Amino acid sequence: MLIQDELLDVLVVGSGIGGLTSAALLQQQGFRTLVLEKNRFAGGSCSSFSRSGYTFDAGASVFYGFAEDGQSGTLNLHTKIFRKLGVKVQTVPDPVQIHYHLPEGLNLAACYDRGLFLDRLTAAFPHEREGIGKFYAELENVYDILSSLPAGSLEDIRHLLTVGSSFPMKTAALAIKTFQSMGKRARRHISDAALLHFIDIEAYSWALQDAVSTPLVNAGICLADRHHGGINYPLGGSGAIARGLVEGFERCGGEIRYGAEVSEILVENGSATGVRLADGSVIRARVVVSNATIWDTFNRLVDDERYRIPMDRFIEAPSWFQLYLGVNGALIPEGLNVHHVLVDDWSRYTDSGGTLYCSIPSLLDSSLAPPGRHTVHAFVTDRADDWAELERGSGEYLKRKDMFTRELIQRLESVMPGISGGCELTLSASPHTHKRYLNRHKGSYGPLLRPGQNILVKPQNTTPVKNLFATGDSTFPGQGVIAVTYSGISCASFIAARFGKPMEPLD
Ligand SMILES: Cc1cc2nc3c(=O)[nH]c(=O)nc-3n(C[C@H](O)[C@H](O)[C@H](O)COP(=O)(O)OP(=O)(O)OC[C@H]3O[C@@H](n4cnc5c(N)ncnc54)[C@H](O)[C@@H]3O)c2cc1C
Repeated sequence: MLIQDELLDVLVVGSGIGGLTSAALLQQQGFRTLVLEKNRFAGGSCSSFSRSGYTFDAGASVFYGFAEDGQSGTLNLHTKIFRKLGVKVQTVPDPVQIHYHLPEGLNLAACYDRGLFLDRLTAAFPHEREGIGKFYAELENVYDILSSLPAGSLEDIRHLLTVGSSFPMKTAALAIKTFQSMGKRARRHISDAALLHFIDIEAYSWALQDAVSTPLVNAGICLADRHHGGINYPLGGSGAIARGLVEGFERCGGEIRYGAEVSEILVENGSATGVRLADGSVIRARVVVSNATIWDTFNRLVDDERYRIPMDRFIEAPSWFQLYLGVNGALIPEGLNVHHVLVDDWSRYTDSGGTLYCSIPSLLDSSLAPPGRHTVHAFVTDRADDWAELERGSGEYLKRKDMFTRELIQRLESVMPGISGGCELTLSASPHTHKRYLNRHKGSYGPLLRPGQNILVKPQNTTPVKNLFATGDSTFPGQGVIAVTYSGISCASFIAARFGKPMEPLD
């Protein structure tokens, strides 16, 4: 156990993937680090839980960053971090990023094989052959640039100078591309409305924004890396990523304390000095890293009006209504892909419930379900405000959950006929649940950029409070497990450099 009497180097509030990545890298770099996690488990939105013999992914199920060396693409941040920490996380290839089921019968799987994906898309829109080629080539171009630059902090002048002088053309090209929107670039090459809707859902599926609002740079990772490093699923479920980081962190001497909710980040004379826990105890450290959202950090945990984040600075993404189902394996059609996105009506796809997500990870890892059974995770966006009047556990609350549950299962019939009668376990989670488990403001997916905002406007790792740093999906580059991993790396490398123990770039 870490010494409480001595001043710690780093306190990390929260064990999401952003917090754990920062903690593990800093501890390995020689900083005595303590992670405080309110839950009894690590990983936040990237954790697993088990019920009645089924293991479910609480949130994320589609993972980038696990390709082996030599495979095309170098953005394999999970592979690099686990190698650095000396931890093995086993994965299996996940051949299709998303199988789309869209209006007017457009049914298309975004598979690993780029040529096959483009052929399928061109077959659906033959008159847009040239535009499709040009648009996806632009994404490929962004990917080429990103995958050749080492991960590091954009606030670290030394890192910027090194990258800028080693790769001057690529750095300059990337700087220009940070101003570009995915949807606007698509519109330069494509005019078919249905195809532009497809490009929108390609963005919305992970960014929760249409293509015009989505930065080209982010799209260049998600929609190109699926054909390079590919999508890989960790055996044992999403929690295996968090467990791997915890193992590496603890092996280097770090400590994670569970059931430890931080109620205040202590700031004295403009500088973070430690935290107060919900039980009233105080822990001091030279540096505090917050893995809470930007709203929770500055509008709740830091008790100083001067640091408040105006709610209109970013768009507040919605929360989720989620279903975790244990189903009879006979209901799963032969050859069914693992991840699905269903849209019935383009005029509603961005509304609450307008886009239905569904994953069946037990198709990749049979240990997640009892023999002959499968796990289904289905979810839609939903607003905490729409549940605000309903007290958790009240009759009205349960009635609404039950209604949503039946509706979503009914919608899954088109992918898994008969599922309405074949669920052996049904668990549901409202935005209240999401907020309660993860301490996230309104259970939100996090802050989103306004259309046209440069991606670099996203908060970086430093904050207005000295010695208080931020990591996770409120910070650059944004939402997604690989994105928060990047944020964790840049946060750790900035702190390490600032406090005199600079890290080597990951290799
Ligand atoms: C339904 C859903 C599906 C998703 N699907 C995917 C996907 O397929 N692929 C993908 O890449 N991404 C996906 N994501 C997004 C991805 O999971 C998140 O962006 C990412 O995991 C967020 O990581 P984070 O580090 O910001 O922290 P979080 O996951 O938010 O974790 C923060 C941690 O901090 C703890 N904490 C907060 N406040 C305190 C406090 N005061 N004291 C102590 N502890 C505290 C919380 O308990 C939590 O453990 C999905 C998210 C959701 C919700």
